[in-house]
Amino acid sequence: MRGEIVNVGTEILIGDILNTNAQYISKELSSAGISVYYQTTVGDNGDRLMEILKKSIERSDLIILTGGLGPTQDDLTKESVAKLLGLKMELHTESYDKLLSFFNSVSSKMTDNNLKQAYMPEGSHIIPNNNGTAPGVLIEKDEKIFILLPGPPRELIPMFRDFVYPYLLSKSPDKFYSYYYKVSGVGESALEDMLLDIIDNQTNPTIATYAKPDEVLLRVTANAKSEEEAEEFLRKYDVIISERLKDNIYAREDISLNQVVADLLIDSGTTLSVAESCTGGLILSRLTEIPGISKCLHSGIVCYSNESKIDYLGVRKETLDTFGAVSRECAEEMLQGLVKRNKTDMAIATTGVAGPDGGTTAKPVGLVYIGIYHNGIYEIEEYHISGGRQRVQMKTAAMSLNLIRKKLKKG
Ligand code: ATP
Ligand code: MG
Repeated sequence: MRGEIVNVGTEILIGDILNTNAQYISKELSSAGISVYYQTTVGDNGDRLMEILKKSIERSDLIILTGGLGPTQDDLTKESVAKLLGLKMELHTESYDKLLSFFNSVSSKMTDNNLKQAYMPEGSHIIPNNNGTAPGVLIEKDEKIFILLPGPPRELIPMFRDFVYPYLLSKSPDKFYSYYYKVSGVGESALEDMLLDIIDNQTNPTIATYAKPDEVLLRVTANAKSEEEAEEFLRKYDVIISERLKDNIYAREDISLNQVVADLLIDSGTTLSVAESCTGGLILSRLTEIPGISKCLHSGIVCYSNESKIDYLGVRKETLDTFGAVSRECAEEMLQGLVKRNKTDMAIATTGVAGPDGGTTAKPVGLVYIGIYHNGIYEIEEYHISGGRQRVQMKTAAMSLNLIRKKLKKG
C-alpha cells in the first residue's frame, strides 16, 4: 500500500511548531508495512490544500491528514476532503451529543462554530478522541482511504495507536501481531539504551516506544504468514526484553500502574497509609481512582509545611533544623510517625524539591526521598529527577507506586 501524509497548518510553515506528527506517523506506517512516498505541509488555505489533495488521490492509496479539524473558520480539512470526494457534509448526531455533553460538563455554552466539529463527510467512520473535542474521520471511497486526525499530538497519538494502527494492520495483506510491555522505573532513553542493539537492527519484528512522563509503553510487532510464525518471532524477543527489563515490566497488557498496585494490595490484603509532601496528594489520588481500593487504603496525609510534619507525623524539630525537610532523616521520621499513628501493613512517605524554586547546590530541584515501610522494615530511597515541577511530582508518585508494586511482588 502506498501512503502519504499531509500536515495542514500555517504554524508549521512559518516555523512556529515542529512537525512531529509527520515523523510519528511515518514511523508507524513503515512499521505497519506501508510505504510512505510523500510528506507535504500546507497552510490553512483551502485552494492550496485542494491542489495537494488532487495530487495525493492520484498517486496514493492511503492519505493521512493532520490538523485543521477544529471549530474555527481556518479549519478546512474535512470540508476540503468532502469537496474532493464529492461528499456532502452531514450532522453526526453521536458527535453532536458528545460535544454538547462536553460543554455541559465544563459549564460553558457551546458557540455555533463548535457545531462545525459535529459535521462529517457523509459515510465517514468516526475515530473517537478522548483527549479533545474534534473527532477523527476515516473515509473509504473507490479503493482510497482518507484518515483525518486532529493536530495536537496528545490527541493524535492515542487515536493513532488505539484505532488507526490496528485498522491499518487489518487492511494489510500481511499479518501483524504485537506484544505490549508497560514499563515503570526506567525512562524512555534509558530503555532505548537497554534495547539499543535490537532497536537498531529491527526489521521484523519492529519495536516502538511511547513515553509518558512517568512510564513507557513498548510495542513489539511481528509481520508473519501465520500466528504461529509471529509468536515464534515475538517469543524470541520476549526472552531478551524480559531478561533486560526484569521487574520494571509491570504489565503485558494496556493496564495502568494504579490498577496493578491496587490489585496487588487488594489480593494480598495489605493495608496502606500514605504521607505526602512534594507529591501533594498525587499518590492518594491515583490510588483512589481504582474502585475497591477502600478495602486496603487506610488514609493519606498531605504534610506540606514543617509544622504539619511535626504535628501530624511527629517529625522532630531538631531533625528539620539539622537536616531540612528534604532529607533521608525527615523521610524516615515521616514514615515512622505514620506507622505509629495508623495500624497499617505498609506505609509510604515522600519529600523532595519539586521546583522551580527552592533548590540549592546541596539540594537541587529534583532531589526526592521516598520512604517505604513493609514487613517491619523501613527503607529510604534517594532519587534525582530531571525536568519541571509537574514532571518531578508525577515521577515521584509513579516511583512510589512502583516501589509498592515491587515489594508486594516479592511478598
Ligand atoms: P484544534 O481543535 O486544537 O484547533 P486542529 O485539528 O484544528 O485542532 P490545528 O489547529 O491545525 O489542529 O493545530 C492545533 C495545534 O496542534 C497546533 O497549535 C500545534 O500545537 C499542534 N500541531 C498541529 N499540527 C502539528 C504537527 N504536524 N506536528 C506537531 N504538532 C502539531
Ligand atoms: Mg485548529
